[in-house]
This record gives sequence, structure tokens and C-alpha cells, in this order.
Amino acid sequence: MKTNDQLAEWDRENFFHPSTHLAQHARGETPTRVIKTGEGCHITDRDGTRLLDAFAGLYCVNVGYGRQEIAEAIAEQARELAYYHAYVGHGTEASITLSKMILDRAPAGMSKVYFGQSGSDANETNVKLIWYYNNILGRPEKKKIISRWRGYHGSGLVTGSLTGLELFHKKFDLPLAQVVHTEAPYYYRRDNLDQTPEQFTAHCVAELEALIAREGADTIAAFIGEPVLGTGGIVPPPPGYWAAIQEVLRKHDILLVADEVVTGFGRLGSMFGSDHYGMTPDLITIAKGLTSAYAPLSGSIVGDRMWKVLEQGTDENGPMGHGWTYSAHPIGAAAGVANLKLLDDLNLIQNAGDVGAYLQGALRDALGDHANVGEVRGEGLMAAVEFVADRDSRTYFDVGDKVGPRISAALLSKGVIARAMPQGDILGFAPPFCLTRAEADEIAGKVAQAVGEVLPG
Ligand code: PLP
Repeated sequence: MKTNDQLAEWDRENFFHPSTHLAQHARGETPTRVIKTGEGCHITDRDGTRLLDAFAGLYCVNVGYGRQEIAEAIAEQARELAYYHAYVGHGTEASITLSKMILDRAPAGMSKVYFGQSGSDANETNVKLIWYYNNILGRPEKKKIISRWRGYHGSGLVTGSLTGLELFHKKFDLPLAQVVHTEAPYYYRRDNLDQTPEQFTAHCVAELEALIAREGADTIAAFIGEPVLGTGGIVPPPPGYWAAIQEVLRKHDILLVADEVVTGFGRLGSMFGSDHYGMTPDLITIAKGLTSAYAPLSGSIVGDRMWKVLEQGTDENGPMGHGWTYSAHPIGAAAGVANLKLLDDLNLIQNAGDVGAYLQGALRDALGDHANVGEVRGEGLMAAVEFVADRDSRTYFDVGDKVGPRISAALLSKGVIARAMPQGDILGFAPPFCLTRAEADEIAGKVAQAVGEVLPG
């Protein structure tokens, strides 16, 4: 077995890590943590340190770590048939079964599922399908996509453009011209503190209307949004937001893409965020929770109105020139089937809703009175605590103070992982759905200790 020092050296010399400060890591200023095992809501590193993972990896290990049912399904598929492609009508029992299981669970009006490997490539597929759709309908000018500031939709070229976080644009020559951004539905960070949540919703709608008027509705193809903003700060929408936004989209014949990479398959305590908020999307992006990350697999669920046009397009133009080698990979599909079955068998989505509400209550009880806690918020098993320098005037800390990352580091030293969200001093929580109330209490108690250390008041 390699020593940890040996691995750390190889890591610094050879491994280009995603979303990492490359120079600091190469200089050895950031630790190399080598994760070895996982069980339930816990992971253990090679030093034997056991951590309660209150972010489920990257909000993806929804059924929890160490599920032998999924491991067995993957092994069995690998032994029987590790790979065959899905081009020109080919499939496997796993991929065909999974597509049916997804459609059986999807909101009304959805027609087919296309499989990819990551949330980013699924959104890339979505944009191509949207462009294809408007070309088939003879509307070549109707191509722009509206996304929200603070939305997260991936880090490819067009998906990194859709993502509304500065870090993902800066020095990459993004966003591309086909993407325009509108106001984030982030009530806590509203400019006008006198606005009620309802007035703020009206403000977001007015901003969208103004953007459409500026760009011209005949140039706007689609609007993409996460039911609950995720990486941008874990922010549930203000009341009435999705109903009002959809009214505007319908008026201007603009498609809706619900990016459910995080919310799909139960994280809000409902099967889909679209159902949770009364959204009727034309496309739904799925990934993480589809396999609970036991194997990479994503999908684009295509609604009826688009599907009809896609069929018409291939009658007119021949087979669709879009596909990946690993579309509907049998091992990913086998993991997906086993994962969705486990969610049902163990009633995990119900638990996500119940224990999610409990966790939010525990965080509020433990932190609500702290002078630097501006807001504790969440929906289902997504929660966030936002820190401010002054609660009454809602003044933020300097970015350079790194308050969020310091609290996250203090919490880690107590054995709990929560994520310092990339923009703002926001600590994010999205644990596996098997979280117990005792584990929720442990998280809240240790967060309070960590906050007390970094912000003694
Ligand atoms: N969409 C949402 C809402 C996400 O949260 C993410 C990743 O966090 C993505 C898309 C991109 O997924 P991936 O990292 O698998 O490309």
C-alpha cells in the first residue's frame, strides 16, 4: 500500500484537480485528503478520520454511501455486458428500463429521455435541442437563452455561460453571446430592503420582461433555472415566483428548462422540484440523484411539444447528429435502476422532506440568535446559513476575510463537512437522504461551535 506522503506527492505532481487553486495546491499549501470508504452519511479518509458528510459529496450521494444493492447491480452489469452503444436504436435492458422508470416518475407532459454522463453535457444537449427545435419551426433568430445570475448549469462553453457566477466566466471569454442573464430570485440579497417577498417576485418578473423587451422576444428561445438556486447560494424562490415567471414565458413563446440536476429524484422531499413548485418545463435536466453518483449518468427529459418537432426534424433532415459514445452507458443505467428502486424501497424521499425540515429547525435553534447570522433558509434537504457583518443593516463581510471558508474549515475539524458556497459567506448543507435526526442535531451543534470560534461576537 502506498503511504499517504507518497500519494500526496504524486497528487501534487500529476493530478489536475477541478475547481482548485492550482498554484497553491502544487505548492502543497492545500491538503490532499484521500478518501477511502463511505457508509451511510459518513466517509473515512486514509488516516482513519471519519467525517459526517453534510453535503453528500457534491449534493449527489442521495441514498448514502456503501449501498451494496447498487454496487451489486453495477458488478453484475459489468460482468454481463460492460458496454454497448445506444446509437441507431440499440439499448440494454438497464437503459430501456431506466428510461421507463424516469418517465413514470417525471412530471406530466414529458415524452422521452436522452442520456448523457454529466449535468454539464445534459445542459449542452438541451441547448442544441432548443436550437434545432427553432430551426425546424423556421425561427432561426429565436436562439438566445436566458439564465439567472447565480444560476449553476455546468462549466462547459455554453453551460459555463449559462452559469451566472463570475468565477466561471472570468478569463474564459464567457459568457457566449447567445446567453443573457436576469435577476436571481434571491430575496435576502434584494437591493430594496423595503420590498416584501411578493413585491420582490414582481420585481424579478419586471426585470425579466424588461430583458425580453430589450433583446426582442423573437430572439429568445428559452429560460433555464434550477427550481431552488443551488451553487449560487441554496436559495428557495420567493412566493409565486415560478407561476409568475412561467406566465411571462408563455406569453412570449419561450421554452422552460428546469435544471433538476440537484433537485431531481427527491432532494426537496418531492420526486421533482418542478412538481414541488408547479413548473411545467419543456426540458428537465437530471444527473446527480439519478444514480446517487454511484456511476456517472445524466439525462435530458424532453417534453411533448418539443418531441413532436424533433421527430418532424428527423423526417425532414435525417437522423439527428447528436450523440455520445457513452450515452446510456449500461453500467450507469444499471446503477440508476438500482438507485431509483432503493429510493422507493427505503422511503428515502419522504425522509428527505421530514429530516430536512428537522435540520432547518435545528440550525435555526442553534444559530438564529447569532449576531452574524443573517438568514437560515432551505427547502427539503437543501439548507444554507448566510453570514453577515451586521444583521440590521445587512452588511456583508469583505471577500478577503474568507468568513464562509473559515467556518467550513472549523466545522471540518469537528468532523462535519458542509460547503462554503462560492459566492458570499454562505454555508451549504445537502446531506444524504438517509440522514437521521440525531445526525441533524450533531450537524447543527457543531456548526454552532464552529461559528462561535470564527465569529465570537
Ligand atoms: N446543473 C446543476 C443545477 C448543478 O448543480 C450542476 C453541478 O453541480 C450541474 C448542472 C453540472 O453538473 P456536472 O458537474 O455533472 O457537469
